[in-house]
Amino acid sequence: MRIAELYTRDRPIFSFEFFPPRTPKGGESLLRTIKELARLRPGFVSVTCPLDKARRRDTFALVVRTKRDLGIESMAHVVTVDYSRSEMAEVLEGLRREGIENILALRGDLPEGADPDAPRDFRHGVDLVRFARDVGGLCIGGAAHPEMHPSSTDWQGEIRHAAEKVEAGCEFLVTQLFFDNADYFRYVERARSAGIEVPIVPGIMPVGSVPGIKRMANMNGNRIPAGFLAELEAAEGDDAAVHELGVRHATQQCEDLLARGVPGIHFYTLNRSPATREILSALRERLAIPD
Ligand SMILES: Cc1cc2nc3c(=O)[nH]c(=O)nc-3n(C[C@H](O)[C@H](O)[C@H](O)COP(=O)(O)OP(=O)(O)OC[C@H]3O[C@@H](n4cnc5c(N)ncnc54)[C@H](O)[C@@H]3O)c2cc1C
Repeated sequence: MRIAELYTRDRPIFSFEFFPPRTPKGGESLLRTIKELARLRPGFVSVTCPLDKARRRDTFALVVRTKRDLGIESMAHVVTVDYSRSEMAEVLEGLRREGIENILALRGDLPEGADPDAPRDFRHGVDLVRFARDVGGLCIGGAAHPEMHPSSTDWQGEIRHAAEKVEAGCEFLVTQLFFDNADYFRYVERARSAGIEVPIVPGIMPVGSVPGIKRMANMNGNRIPAGFLAELEAAEGDDAAVHELGVRHATQQCEDLLARGVPGIHFYTLNRSPATREILSALRERLAIPD
């Protein structure tokens, strides 16, 4: 099923993101996690695409497996970095042949030290959106950055580039993680003012590790609200306390987002099930959301 159709339903769509494991043992453990989370009946799951080109086939294999063997609608993240147009055509046609109907079209980050001006077949996310649209048969999503992409210098450019992706055929946007809902709602307002009308799905990551989240926030330019950061730092070293704080903050974020009518929530699960399970159970109970 095309994911864009899911968002036309009159209820929030919950989706879970995983990354392809590096080892067979990790693969087995991930399948257990996915099966546990499948009981929560997600609208779909998605699998990230590593920068290491050789490992991308693991992404595509996992997406096919979740869809075919577990019967869950699945979306492959596809990054442009290091792919020629002919390789990309093979990737997209291969996915389609395996019955995959949904991709998240991403530029990806260049490896450290790479020359950003070196010639490449795809420069930006929008180039992949156009290419995938021409291949046909795929529902295409794209990334949105509520705190502005680290390489952007102004909001005008950031939103214009998001609008270009939508004009090119992107049917929904999923946001980068954020910890303050005000950033998401300001982004949505800017996007709507620029004529972007597709669903903008908030991406939520429950914090599970203090150094881990600081690293990630640094990479993506995310702001962690001062009060939450202070609580996390005070709990650092106590895994259970950090988990509890992460679940509490993410649950509060989700409650507010859902009360204000978001089309769904995309959970960055980091391949673990407990936090997402706890958040979703609390939300379903408190907001009386049907299974
Ligand atoms: C939901 C989500 C999932 C992700 N999954 C993955 C994943 O699986 N694998 C992975 O490696 N990374 C992933 N990322 C990270 C993503 O690849 C990086 O954030 C990347 O740096 C930007 O990708 P993009 O598709 O937003 O790029 P773009 O849309 O190309 O935007 C990147 C920058 O270029 C600017 N820009 C865009 N178009 C133009 C243009 N025509 N001219 C000039 N400037 C332009 C934008 O304003 C922005 O500053 C994900 C991000 C999100 C939000």
